[in-house]
Amino acid sequence: MPGIMSGVRGGLKGRSTDPQLVEFTMGVLSGAISSSDIEEFVRQHAFDRTLTFVLNNSCNLSCRHCYLQVESLTGNALRADEWDRIFESALDQNPDLLCLSGKEIFLGNSGADALAALTAKKHSLGSRTRIGAITNGTLMHRYRAAVEQADLDYLDISFDGGIKAHDALRGSGSFAAAAQNATWAAQTFGGRLFAGLTVQRANFKAMSEAITEITALGIQTIGCGFYQRVPYSDESLALTDAELDQFFESLADLDNAELSQPVTLLFDLHTATLDASLAFMRSRWFAPDQFLTDDRGEVFNEYQLSNGLRLQFSFAPYPMAVFKSARITPEGNYLAAEDTLDTRFYRVRTLGNVRDFDYDLGRLHEHASHQPRVKRIFSDYSEYVLPQFQEAFAIHTMLSSVPTPRALTFAPVLA
Ligand code: SF4
Repeated sequence: MPGIMSGVRGGLKGRSTDPQLVEFTMGVLSGAISSSDIEEFVRQHAFDRTLTFVLNNSCNLSCRHCYLQVESLTGNALRADEWDRIFESALDQNPDLLCLSGKEIFLGNSGADALAALTAKKHSLGSRTRIGAITNGTLMHRYRAAVEQADLDYLDISFDGGIKAHDALRGSGSFAAAAQNATWAAQTFGGRLFAGLTVQRANFKAMSEAITEITALGIQTIGCGFYQRVPYSDESLALTDAELDQFFESLADLDNAELSQPVTLLFDLHTATLDASLAFMRSRWFAPDQFLTDDRGEVFNEYQLSNGLRLQFSFAPYPMAVFKSARITPEGNYLAAEDTLDTRFYRVRTLGNVRDFDYDLGRLHEHASHQPRVKRIFSDYSEYVLPQFQEAFAIHTMLSSVPTPRALTFAPVLA
């Protein structure tokens, strides 16, 4: 399953303090920047853009938390020759990253064929766009040669905990099936292999096991998103605010985990994971005066625990709409990042179909950015989401001025 936005995206790269992004993020939180200026910034800023292509609507697993359940597509699935035209147009747009996902891309040959086609196109155009893929890992042994040849910039394999939690969520034996391919991929891709983990009720108390058992496969970075409630998946997996607080607090205990290699946990916190983002802001890890930025414009806090475990919290308290990340569905619909979660609304929230734009993603993007739905994403954000971020920030600011007797057992990493 693709992450709500687009998976781990190759992790954070570099460490600096880009004043423009840090000041923007602080201005969003403090209220120093108006809603219309936030929208203007997001529309105009030269973000490193990600386009995610969902190649099919089929999967061999039936995970309890799967949000990507689409009963029927709104039209015929795109053919391989149509995807070829989309890939060429996408590379012409010069985004930072093109991410191939499915439900499961290695169910059938089309995912491996698409990887080969996209890579060939990239090389023939001399493009510097990164290419990544997301898979549940269980079927990849059928396509190892193709995956190796594709020379991916990153590969995400989804693991939802250690063996026990993963199999409880994804089906008995699914950890072992993914593990055999993950071990191969770790040897092949090294630090370009990532695990994508969805934090939820079935695994949030077992992160230590998850780290031990996932990193034993050779994976060095685990990207963590948070389960978001949708009525057609198992809603009992959603964490309450108290459980989210407990989860963030428990991360300090991970300094007891035994690590056989350097390991990073990277948390993806943004408007689509609002409850988790607010819990992060209530936690000891939220340190706006120590915000860092990476080479691709992510703002984050970073810590190193005493056992060497690195915790990174990537934080984007503003909408992305189509300006930082967007998605093409199997039938060619163009969706804003915020609209990728709830598939029941794909039909009405599509911003256009590639077929109606002669597969020209530049024209489609231009059309999409002026659609009322995009305006609505910003207005909903201003009305419902932004006030919650600002309230959490005001409380954080007030509490930070009160001395705390709690000893800190972690060290922030500074630029
Ligand atoms: S692996 Fe699980 S979460 Fe991912 S698409 Fe398949 S059923 Fe959904």
